[in-house]
Amino acid sequence: MAYSYELGPIRPPSEAYSLLIRVTINCPWNRCQFCRTYKGQKFQLRSVAEIKQDIKTAKLIQDKIKELSWESGYGGRVKEIAGMVVNNPPDEVFRNVALWLYAGSESVFLQDADSLIMRTDELAEVISFLRGTFPDIKRITSYARSKTAARKKLDELIQLREAGLSRVHIGLESGYDPLLQYMDKGVTAAQHIKGGRNIVESGISLSEYVILGLGGKEMWREHAIQTARVLNEIGPDFIRVRTLTVSSGMPLGGEIENGNFIRATDEEILEEERLLIEHLECHSNYVSDHITNLLQEIEGKLPQDKGEMLASIDRFQALSPEERANFRIGRRFGIYNHLDDLYESHRRQAVEQVKHRLGQGSNQVDDQTIYTLMEGFI
Ligand code: SF4
Repeated sequence: MAYSYELGPIRPPSEAYSLLIRVTINCPWNRCQFCRTYKGQKFQLRSVAEIKQDIKTAKLIQDKIKELSWESGYGGRVKEIAGMVVNNPPDEVFRNVALWLYAGSESVFLQDADSLIMRTDELAEVISFLRGTFPDIKRITSYARSKTAARKKLDELIQLREAGLSRVHIGLESGYDPLLQYMDKGVTAAQHIKGGRNIVESGISLSEYVILGLGGKEMWREHAIQTARVLNEIGPDFIRVRTLTVSSGMPLGGEIENGNFIRATDEEILEEERLLIEHLECHSNYVSDHITNLLQEIEGKLPQDKGEMLASIDRFQALSPEERANFRIGRRFGIYNHLDDLYESHRRQAVEQVKHRLGQGSNQVDDQTIYTLMEGFI
């Protein structure tokens, strides 16, 4: 029996343990300068029948793992068998289902970049079928573009919520129109607000993603202030930040080579983040769940945790130049997770060794080295 089906390339960090069901293929826009995920790939809608077949196959894999659990003496408990499959999966589909089962099979993420582009009736049918097939799932989420969400009627979004769509993740990236245009995001700040408000008003939970550093050295200030303004108007449940990385295949790489876009450094990006947080007045959870962020501890509930979040930036900025250099390398090398880790002598020594190996004996950290290390994570 074949256990294979469509899997897309990405999901948000918060959906690491979700069952992945691909409802559309690639991105219908596919022009953003800072994104390489679907470049060269054509967007395709999928039929409801095809998607249902994938969901049925995921169910078959779930049943197979349960069966193995009985046969292996685990009495139908799936965690142990799922853990073994995750470590030695026959393929990526099996691995994804096993990981989902291992983590308690609570959530499903609908891939790829803009599921709301499906006809509402069809997407609602898929979501209802998922809920019927896996009655214990607690959350179904998906990516969407603001422009698509802005075009949907409120009634349609309510229909999707009633079918079982719990949360939408939108790549806001910035709220500054000249920057959105420069990056060819294909959406204006006003459309971001309209799309975001539509989701919020429908009762579907909303995550908005912001890219720190997207304004580079030239537009960072407006990027921070206008992004905060747009987020204040939307009032999403979650604001999630990640830091700009530039890897091969991204059109932005050419702009950097030509000198048209000058990247901001870690320390400049922290100033930008300070300005963003200072201007945020919405009631949202601010989440820094991406490996690319220098200070992952800048998290909290707005507005009450704003002071504490800004204090983390103060704390970094109060470090000596040597300590800041050490932390940046340690963070980008995966040795540190938080500022407190700087005070664990074994970690600090490990970073000093790395610095030595990189030929960074001086206190000056070469920004290009830092960018290269960061991009190694992506
Ligand atoms: S809309 Fe999203 S997936 Fe599509 S190109 Fe832009 S960033 Fe990439």
